[in-house]
Amino acid sequence: GRKFFVGGNWKCNGTTEQVKKIVSTLNGGEVPSQDVVEVVISPPFVFLPLVKEALRPDFHVAAQNCWVKKGGAFTGEVSAEMLVNLSIPWVIIGHSERRLMLKESNEFVGDKVAYALSQGLKVIACIGETLEQREAGSTVEVVAAQTKAIAAKVSNWADVVLAYEPVWAIGTGKVATPAQAQEVHSELRKWLQANVSPEVAASTRIIYGGSVTAANCKELAAQPDVDGFLVGGASLKSRSSLTLSSLL
Ligand code: 13P
Repeated sequence: GRKFFVGGNWKCNGTTEQVKKIVSTLNGGEVPSQDVVEVVISPPFVFLPLVKEALRPDFHVAAQNCWVKKGGAFTGEVSAEMLVNLSIPWVIIGHSERRLMLKESNEFVGDKVAYALSQGLKVIACIGETLEQREAGSTVEVVAAQTKAIAAKVSNWADVVLAYEPVWAIGTGKVATPAQAQEVHSELRKWLQANVSPEVAASTRIIYGGSVTAANCKELAAQPDVDGFLVGGASLKSRSSLTLSSLL
């Protein structure tokens, strides 16, 4: 079976004091053992060493991005090699905030995923349609194209979690209905089955992100193709992020 995956994406938020507070709440909480749910916290780069050091050992950390190839003269970037050097196991790649605001293309995201994997990182690869694309009826086409650009360069799917995050649901409080999430997740699994392999389709975790809260996560988690969550805002509220991971 696919182990349930709960990621907390803190985005560009937090102070040292807030980080310590959330970590200490998470550390004190009772959550299911790592046999049942995998919990991965993703703070901004500058807090990664602090969180990694302070966080309970059964939870792991993820960077929110990394450079597309080997490090060097790329001012402001952080390379996959550096994350590996710091024993950061995971990286989020292709978040819609980067695709849209920083103009990361499908191909660039595919290159980043492939490079991060080649260096030994595990990748949370994000995809998702805008409201305009959904209203135009092109949701499946959009997420398939995003997935295709990743699949074109990736062979070791065992280290990839696919995060479906509809842009209209991110930070808006407008969570996808369980049926809406299930429909897209199921289409994605079918796409993997037809274009990668039945084994990869059956084993790859497809997680949902976009206004997930402690209140709505149970119903979403009950969907057969929803294998976890990538949580933004609620993961910053230490209480609710705890509830989220313990409810599942
Ligand atoms: P929210 O949970 O704040 O909607 O953000 C979701 C997200 O973008 C996680 O990566």
